[in-house]
Amino acid sequence: MIAAAACVCKTGRGTCPRMGIPVVIRCDCGTETPGDAGETLVCSNCGRRYATEGVLSEQLIQARSAAVRHKVTARLGVGVVGLLTVLALFRFGLVGFFVTFAVSALLWFGVVMRIVRERSFGRILSAETTEVQADE
Ligand SMILES: [Zn+2]
Repeated sequence: MIAAAACVCKTGRGTCPRMGIPVVIRCDCGTETPGDAGETLVCSNCGRRYATEGVLSEQLIQARSAAVRHKVTARLGVGVVGLLTVLALFRFGLVGFFVTFAVSALLWFGVVMRIVRERSFGRILSAETTEVQADE
């Protein structure tokens, strides 16, 4: 039996630098073996093999969409902050520029991004795990 657990990146800002989505194999023998989704994982205790290729649990889908959402939100934030600061520069001059930049960047990356991230984690944690049979 395998339970695929989605990666919960805690890098703070930015997305996970690794390309693979980590999964944890929970073997019938009770041993947990970590690896990347798509690899054939071998239980470190009994040697059973689990092909995770093609395994797309709801958690993995959620983890992927969370990474995409995170990236889109970050890019959108750069756009929004940039737009606001440019507007402030024309309207209020340099002081307005710096104040707007600090406030909008803090709001977006400190508040909006955190909300997006927490919602994503909630979806991931509430998603179903997937079961895969060991290769004989
Ligand atoms: Zn095992």
